[in-house]
Amino acid sequence: MTGFFLHAAASLHDPGWGHPEHQGRLRALASAVGKDLLTLHGRVEQFESRLATMQELLSVHSPDHLEHLFHVCRKAEEEGRSMEVGPETLVSAGSRDAILGSAGAVLEAVERVADGTLANAFVAARPPGHHATRERSMGFCAVNHVAVGARHLLETGRARRVAIVDWDVHHGNGTQEIFWQDPDIFYLSIHQWPSYPGTGAEAEQGGGEGRGTTRNVLVPPGTDGAAHRAALREALEDTATAFDPDFILVSAGYDALAQDPLGGLLLEPADFHALTRDVMGWAEAACGGRVVAVMEGGFEPRATGKAVVATLRALAGVEEVGQDR
Ligand SMILES: [Zn+2]
Repeated sequence: MTGFFLHAAASLHDPGWGHPEHQGRLRALASAVGKDLLTLHGRVEQFESRLATMQELLSVHSPDHLEHLFHVCRKAEEEGRSMEVGPETLVSAGSRDAILGSAGAVLEAVERVADGTLANAFVAARPPGHHATRERSMGFCAVNHVAVGARHLLETGRARRVAIVDWDVHHGNGTQEIFWQDPDIFYLSIHQWPSYPGTGAEAEQGGGEGRGTTRNVLVPPGTDGAAHRAALREALEDTATAFDPDFILVSAGYDALAQDPLGGLLLEPADFHALTRDVMGWAEAACGGRVVAVMEGGFEPRATGKAVVATLRALAGVEEVGQDR
């Protein structure tokens, strides 16, 4: 069974309708998944989740960062408006629970998949996470959910080595920085180059004991689904010879879609079925298929909804049937 995790509070985070990461993203996603229920029935089960604890977030973020973040969340709630917490990043009343609920959903998803009660899972997280560093919020991201999930797996002994595959159109500078020196967590990112936030050059490969466990794959603007898939596939095959994970997390952004207003790539929703299958292929060979995909960007809500359904179908072992849903 595939888990679909969506914390009810995730939709409360409200940076405003003029912000690309607005509340309509989850509505469109829920509607797209709802329309596919007949196909997903019996294969995908929906879960709510607990809230992550401060202790769990402290495994990745500094006390200063969390104190500042939740202080601004409180202030936004008191003043009844959205407020800036870092570059490009706003919080509102409800953001605290959205952040803790989405991180909690990742924790619960990785626990259930590691413990074998679910085969794999998708987490519809909001706000996204991969730009959040240990010290700060940026790029719409407050807390790095995937990083929290990876650390949780290691700290609870559920995994010894974790791979993170990041196919968001942007480089996950936060995730790369957090695990830069960590030999037990491999960070593989495929992203448009050049693009925001400017990090993620090929030469960035990790440091100290983590040297060689960061890999950046760059694709130029205008890259289509076939070329993107080929590039990721080659990187996955190459990485598999160097790193043997017992759990794989995906930073699943959907801003590489052709319809996306922020990205410059040309993927279609069905391409995400293929990308998911490729990651699952590695997971099946390396770690019993244990994969948890966590939503990052994706700013054209309708296309993102379709691409999430394509991801869910792949996770659930259902064929992709075109894009006319
Ligand atoms: Zn992005």
